[in-house]
Amino acid sequence: MQRDNEMSLEFDSISNNEGFARVTVAAFLTQLNPTLEEVADVKTAVSEAVTNCIIHGYENSIEKIHIYCKISANEFYVEISDKGKGIENVKQAMEPLFTTKPSEERSGMGFAFMEAFMDELEVVSEPLKGTTIKMKKIIGLT
Ligand code: ATP
Ligand code: MG
Repeated sequence: MQRDNEMSLEFDSISNNEGFARVTVAAFLTQLNPTLEEVADVKTAVSEAVTNCIIHGYENSIEKIHIYCKISANEFYVEISDKGKGIENVKQAMEPLFTTKPSEERSGMGFAFMEAFMDELEVVSEPLKGTTIKMKKIIGLT
């Protein structure tokens, strides 16, 4: 069996970097020979999590977003974190359609997509300390 493989990435919380993060994570994932659908799933989940850091975590002020990825056998693990304002009530935030920014055309579906497209989703957050999204996906499940 191959040894584990890790990668981490830190970048500014500007919306231009959302595409950079999504594509970089997808490139790293390629080693597991994912299907196009699996790549698209991971890209969507990463994109939602990074957008949340930019818009909610840092409320558009420019700070650092950190991504850590690990490949272990056929499991892909990704962690996306900000040191922004954090989430008061994680359970409520994760409910489909819940958003704290309804006026900005947010639909409250980010977490629902992450949950649907990945096999596991965990949200660790503390007000004023920041938020970490931990996700796993087994590649080649079907
Ligand atoms: P959409 O993703 O559909 O545009 P949304 O971002 O509001 O809308 P979710 O991504 O599901 O919906 O997030 C739900 C809520 O959780 C957000 O409205 C926000 O209050 C909170 N939240 C999510 N990520 C973070 C974060 N990184 N920091 C602080 N709050 C967050
Ligand atoms: Mg969102």
